[in-house]
Amino acid sequence: ADTITAPRQTRIIAVANQKGGVGKTTTTVNVAAALAQEGMNVVVIDADPQGNATTAMHIDHAPGTAGTYEVLISRAGIADVVQKCPSVDNLYVVPATIDLSGADIELIDVPQREFQLRRAIDKFTMTYTKVDYIFIDCPPSLGLLTLNAFIAAKEVLIPIQAEYYALEGVSMLRTTIGKITRAMNRELVILGIVLTMMDNRTNLAREVSEEVRRAFPSDAFETTIPRTVRLSEAPSYGETIMTFDPTSIGAVSYRALAHEIAHKEVTGHGA
Ligand code: ADP
Ligand code: MG
Repeated sequence: ADTITAPRQTRIIAVANQKGGVGKTTTTVNVAAALAQEGMNVVVIDADPQGNATTAMHIDHAPGTAGTYEVLISRAGIADVVQKCPSVDNLYVVPATIDLSGADIELIDVPQREFQLRRAIDKFTMTYTKVDYIFIDCPPSLGLLTLNAFIAAKEVLIPIQAEYYALEGVSMLRTTIGKITRAMNRELVILGIVLTMMDNRTNLAREVSEEVRRAFPSDAFETTIPRTVRLSEAPSYGETIMTFDPTSIGAVSYRALAHEIAHKEVTGHGA
């Protein structure tokens, strides 16, 4: 197989879709783990108060665990709170706890509160120049946490669940990203769209796949992620699919997606 080489600069990728349950977290942790296993230094920032990415990487998400919340309210830097994922080398996570759900209220009188994460990442990457990828796992909304992610990121990866109404909400997401690109972050581009939970035996899956490729001809990744129970089981063991079942179809698919992402470097106008 082809090899993955480190990007010249840290790639900062927000994984976003305002719909819940479309595979954002599953995609984030498994692509991150696949890249780490190929020797990349990877940091996942959990920006969802549910802390699903945190638990999937076997890190405690009990209230009070320092992480993204402390970073957003400027109580800590990323380097102070980042933790190593125990099962995969080169893989790190900035944990999220339910505390994060209070961040928008906490930041209400902070000027430019949507730039908090960007400032923290800039500071972190200035010191830790060997970080190859930062993934930000977004919550299912377009609120302050996702806005912070879109301003901190250079690329957006959009998972879409292969189902009826799959494209519902995607045009709104694109409009939002377009507004942010024009107003606050000229570097931001859409990295791509990945179809998740595909049931390849059904006509529906084929139809949705064709519909997505018609609507977003240049954005849809070649790789699609099948629906498989192993992918949904891994998080309850605090593992990514890369160590839970490395030869499973889920692992093979996410590894293929990681390779596509590594080879697809898109840059925005400001870059
Ligand atoms: P989101 O972060 O967008 O809310 P998740 O990644 O948490 O979505 O996925 C939602 C649920 O679907 C989780 O229970 C997850 O384990 C499961 N899931 C995600 N991808 C797959 C897949 N390809 N096959 C089977 N189950 C999946
Ligand atoms: Mg999630």
